[in-house]
Amino acid sequence: MSLQEIKTRITAAEAAAGRPEGSVTLIAVSKVQPNARVATVLGEGQRCFGENRVQEAMGKWPDFAEAYTGLDLHLIGPLQTNKARQAMELFSSIHTLDRPKLAKALVRLAQELGKCPDLFIQVNTGAEPQKAGILPAEADGFVAECRALDLPIKGLMCIPPVSEVATDHFTQLSEMAARNGLQGLSMGMSGDFETAIAHGATHVRVGSAIFGARAYRQVS
Ligand SMILES: *Cc1c(COP(=O)(O)O)cnc(C)c1O
Repeated sequence: MSLQEIKTRITAAEAAAGRPEGSVTLIAVSKVQPNARVATVLGEGQRCFGENRVQEAMGKWPDFAEAYTGLDLHLIGPLQTNKARQAMELFSSIHTLDRPKLAKALVRLAQELGKCPDLFIQVNTGAEPQKAGILPAEADGFVAECRALDLPIKGLMCIPPVSEVATDHFTQLSEMAARNGLQGLSMGMSGDFETAIAHGATHVRVGSAIFGARAYRQVS
């Protein structure tokens, strides 16, 4: 599917949900994609991209940044504390803040670097043991803790369990954001971004529907 088709579907989903056109940000998830494919999508005008590994992103985006202005890079994969500095330098948004130790590291780095990306708190809505994210029961407390640290919390993010109805998780996340006064909702991928938009997603993370299948599957 082309970038343009995805954009058209997003516009239609915004209209169907009675939401203003342009209220949803498309993050083109370029992880594992060959640079030639990424360059094609850049050539079509897309500037907002998502990566899930700091190392991999460091290997490609500084070069692209020399050729294309206005890049808006989002980290959507788990962040280890020892990669936090690189992540804060490269990304304008981090979607995977999920623990106090990382929050504290980001505060220290923000002071040192004099800037901080927009942050989303990842919630493990399905309470899956292998998945990153703060547990739903701890989410409200963690939002408050991050705010007390003065971190720029923009919203919440989730990756629903593959075997469950995504709608339940989108609803849960959107209620959690509302009661915490957060506007941002990072949810929805290639298979369910229209459903996510119907439930209030402000950021959809779409990879394979734009770029085609990845050469190998990543565990998220
Ligand atoms: C890979 C990935 C996506 C994109 O998945 P597609 O199904 O290819 O659209 C979205 N979000 C996260 C966190 C990912 O790791």
